[in-house]
Order: sequence, then C-alpha cells, then structure tokens
Amino acid sequence: KFSNALKSVARNEGIKQYIQNSEELYPLFMRAAKRFVSGEKRPDAMKKAKELIEKGYLVSLEFIGENTKTADECQLAKEEFLSLIHELGAHRMKSTISFDLSHIGMAIDRKLGLENLKEMAQAAEQYELNLMISMEESEKTDRILEIYKEAASIYKNIGITLQVHLKRSLDDLTELLNYPGKIRLVKGAYQEPEELVIGRSEELTERYLKFIEKSVKANHPISIATHDEGILQQVLERGYIHDSNVELEMLDGVRPDLIKKVKDQGYHARVYVTYGTEWYLYLAHRIAEYPPNIYTAVSDIIGS
Ligand code: FAD
Repeated sequence: KFSNALKSVARNEGIKQYIQNSEELYPLFMRAAKRFVSGEKRPDAMKKAKELIEKGYLVSLEFIGENTKTADECQLAKEEFLSLIHELGAHRMKSTISFDLSHIGMAIDRKLGLENLKEMAQAAEQYELNLMISMEESEKTDRILEIYKEAASIYKNIGITLQVHLKRSLDDLTELLNYPGKIRLVKGAYQEPEELVIGRSEELTERYLKFIEKSVKANHPISIATHDEGILQQVLERGYIHDSNVELEMLDGVRPDLIKKVKDQGYHARVYVTYGTEWYLYLAHRIAEYPPNIYTAVSDIIGS
C-alpha cells in the first residue's frame, strides 16, 4: 500500500508542475534525476551514447516525453526525434531510438501518431537505424499495438515493447511474433488495475522466462530488458544469450555492474540513455517501479 501511495505521488501532475515551476526545487530534483538521465539536451545524450559505444555497449536513446497535448508540441517532438536520427546517422552511431507513441501524437489522434511514426521510420531506414516503441498504460495497449502493426507491415525497422505483467500479453506475444520487429520484453512499470496484472513474484519471473523461451524458439529478435539478477542468471544458464537474436538491455544508472558483466562476457548488452526537460517524468517512473529509489533521490538532493 505504501508503495502504491508512493507511485501516485510520484506520477501526480500537480506535484510535477509545482516542482518544475519552482526555482528552488527544480535544480534539487534535477540532481536526483541526473542518476538516470544524461541531461536536458541532445548533445548530453550524444556524449553519453558515444562513451558507451566506445566501451563496447549497444545503446538506445530516448527524448523523454508522453501524452503530448497539442499538435504543435507533437510537431516539435517529432522534429527532435528526426534531428536525433540525422545526427546519429551523420556520426554513424548505430543507436536504437526509443519513444512513447503518445509523445509524438497518439494522445491527440491515432492518425497523427501513425503518420509521425512512419516519417521517423523512413528517416531512420536510410541510416539502417531501428526504432523501438515503448509500452504505456494498459488503456493504451490496443491503440499502440494497432499502430505498431500497421507501420511494421511497411517498415521493418520498428520494434515494440511488451509488458510481461499484463495477463493479455501472452496472446499479444503470439501475434507479435508474426511481425518482423524486435520485441522488447519488460516486466511493466505502470500501476494497473489488479485484475489485469500479475504482480512482482516468482510467478512473474517464470512467466518472463516463458516469454523469452517462446520468442527464442520462434527465432525472433528480442531484447530482454530487466535488471532482475535471477532472470539474468537463468538467461545465461539456459544459453538464451548465445542466440545472436537476443540482447540484454538495462536502463542507464540502474545496474551498471550487471550490464557490464554481460558485455564483458561478449554478449549483446544495450544501455538505455535518456535526455530532455521532462526528466521529472522519468524520475517518477523509476521511483514508481522501485520505491527504494525515493531514499536514493532524497540522499542525492540532501547530499548535494
Ligand atoms: P524488478 O523486479 O522491478 O527489479 C529487480 C531488481 O532490479 C530490483 O530488486 C533492483 O535491484 C533493481 N531495479 C529495478 N528497477 C530499478 C530502479 N528503477 N532503480 C534501481 N534499481 C532497480 N516499462 C514499461 O511499462 N514500458 C516500457 O516501454 C518500458 N521500457 C523499458 C525499457 C528498458 C530498456 C528497461 C530496462 C525497462 C523498461 N521498462 C518499461 C521498465 C520495466 O517495465 C520495469 O519497470 C523495470 O525494468 C524494473 O523491473 P525489472 O525487470 O528490472 O525487475
């Protein structure tokens, strides 16, 4: 219950506005966010990505945002993603570009989201870059999957994230295996109605492993996006990681020790790097999915 209360506080829009408009609180919270976010601007993310690539990691980049409310803001978000794609292309950096569909138009109009996605996929295609769609709250799952399927039947460079904690996801996985895009498996970061999900448990771990096995058997490209050491151990023991279609992916700043271990053993290890002024949102997600982060955030704020 404490954890649920914390999740509500962390994602509360009023609190977000208050912090972002406060001259005193903004820089303090920014310090806490710095643990997970490369900075507010594209060069911050490019620098971080370059350093990681030089160390032998694969990289995903996200310009943070969701639920964009006006067409002008959607246009700006899409233009930022296009600039990111062109800059990565110009520097021959093979990063994946990750984003929420609600950031680029889906929250206003399904067609706008789809058109912007297609434009980004086309731009990325010329540099052989891949896009990865994040998965949002369960009320948006159908819309996100529909848009993905429509775009993925034209562009082969679009992947999709699937939340293993949603009960519906096993059926979704079966269907998504018919599309070419990489499937990123995550446990799920959102607070959902209890009847829709399987909470963090041994059952969820087993289910996660089942999703991996089903995808590997289908010879389908997947990203195993987790910081769960138990899952990682099974992935190594069962040899899933030897498959060239399989990669491990972790959020920057969460378990650098673990992802380094994977990379040092010669496997595909991807680090998820973020940037943008909407960093509070990202910090809120990290606190919501792992409440002890509230203590880390407070100590980052007080200790600075
Ligand atoms: P958990 O059981 O939550 O955690 C296992 C252990 O990992 C914890 O005990 C702790 O030691 C460590 N840990 C986990 N999270 C944190 C954290 N935030 N800070 C510090 N330590 C932590 N979710 C979505 O709903 N949609 C998405 O599109 C999405 N994309 C993602 C992309 C990537 C690359 C990754 C890695 C995650 C993504 N997530 C997404 C988040 C995901 O759903 C989980 O909330 C998150 O990964 C935590 O779950 P876990 O699998 O690490 O396991």
